[in-house]
Amino acid sequence: MKKLVIASNNAGKLREIGAIFAPLDFEVFPQSAFNIPEAEEPYCTFIENCLTKARHASAHSGLPALADDSGICVDALNGAPGVYSARFAGEPKSDQRNNEKLIELLQGHADRKAHYYCVMVLVRYPEDPQPLIAEGAMYGEIIDTPRGDGGFGYDPYFLLPEYGQTGAEISMELKNKISHRGKALAALVEKIKESR
Ligand code: IMP
Repeated sequence: MKKLVIASNNAGKLREIGAIFAPLDFEVFPQSAFNIPEAEEPYCTFIENCLTKARHASAHSGLPALADDSGICVDALNGAPGVYSARFAGEPKSDQRNNEKLIELLQGHADRKAHYYCVMVLVRYPEDPQPLIAEGAMYGEIIDTPRGDGGFGYDPYFLLPEYGQTGAEISMELKNKISHRGKALAALVEKIKESR
């Protein structure tokens, strides 16, 4: 089995990625298994931060590494919060304050279009000249009143018009299938299969 470091310590992500990668003959490890410090994420694009995290984890572990980066981009705000999604309303990070700030900024805007975006990068070596890169997006619109108690982050305010439900109302099963992260992960798996 090949070893793969996941540049994250988020238990949910690790489980999800571990389950998808096991049939591909990969054994996955969190970066905490190698005492890898958090990487800096100084860039304004998801892909730059994601590549940096993957390279950092590979350099510290000597193994192939997978990183992901995600967030929500709102059209009327020129793509904000974007890479700042987790800490949109500052430290300490708070979903409630992030959502309050988002709704406040959107007052008076008729255009409520938004999308979640996720990018995944797999590097085989820290200086891999040809990283595998996969993306996914999920499109919707921001509503003023929260609905549902599932999901996390911006989900209660993120309406999926095709389903008439917010990200906090749809089932976990459906979300995994249609979400930015689910799509990026599926696309990455295809790229791994093609690259062999
Ligand atoms: P990260 O990629 O784990 O750093 O997540 C970035 C931030 O984007 C999260 O903290 C959330 O605020 C937001 N986000 C990303 N994906 C989702 C999602 O599926 N639902 C709700 N919020 C999300």
